[in-house]
Amino acid sequence: MTTASPALPSTEVHCAQCGGLLHPDEGQIFLTCPYCSSSVYLDKSKVVFHWSLACTVAPEAARASLHRWMAGNQTVKDLDRKAKLVSATFQYFPVWYCKARNTAAKEQVYLEPAAAISISEIKSLAIPAGDLQKYEAGLDSQAVAPSVPLPAMLQWLAGRGVAGEQITEAALVHLPVYLYKYEFGGKTYTAMVEGASGKVFANIFPAKAEAPYFLVAAFSLLGFLVISAIPLIGYALGETAGLAVGLLVMLVLAVIFAVPVFALAAYISSKV
Ligand SMILES: [Zn+2]
Repeated sequence: MTTASPALPSTEVHCAQCGGLLHPDEGQIFLTCPYCSSSVYLDKSKVVFHWSLACTVAPEAARASLHRWMAGNQTVKDLDRKAKLVSATFQYFPVWYCKARNTAAKEQVYLEPAAAISISEIKSLAIPAGDLQKYEAGLDSQAVAPSVPLPAMLQWLAGRGVAGEQITEAALVHLPVYLYKYEFGGKTYTAMVEGASGKVFANIFPAKAEAPYFLVAAFSLLGFLVISAIPLIGYALGETAGLAVGLLVMLVLAVIFAVPVFALAAYISSKV
């Protein structure tokens, strides 16, 4: 995909793998090395490897993942039935993939979106290194061109305490993603299904209201506190015998009290 990316510096460009001299066309950013056939990406600052992740999740399976997530516990009840799907698109989305050695000499992978996306959660995706494959030109028509330069990624890493010399590898990875827009309660939301794992990502979604659950929790805590004071009262009234009666009353009341608490919790979870 050749987009309106600024012209590359006139300095010579070398392959990230074999060091061979590359001759990109004007504006060309995705390139295959003519000597070693590596796929590389020409960032303004550097030539880096260019990988992709194979899409193994078919559109129907991705849709099914989305529905399972909508029907799940995180989202508002019956979202799978109440939400209206507005659009579904498939694309290869670019992320910066950086490996860095931390102080314990352990390697850690960092991901950052390399183009604008409302789903920043994408950075929490785990990419098994063995799944990375050479980016092929055949993906160009579905690939989003990076708009975030590599130095911006390096700056993010520096902000997280990862210095430049700790970085052992920097690459551009195009991830297969299904993007869905859906409407619920007069608002439009975006959810993403990653096409290699089927995992659902969404930053903002109609969530279950938590306040009613906190209320039930507070109510039951208060109730059990009061009930647990009964043996003390019994003890105050009649020492050992009073304590025994108090304990018995406490047990009975606790069991009885548990019924409305569970009923209330069940009622709320059927509504929220
Ligand atoms: Zn090469």
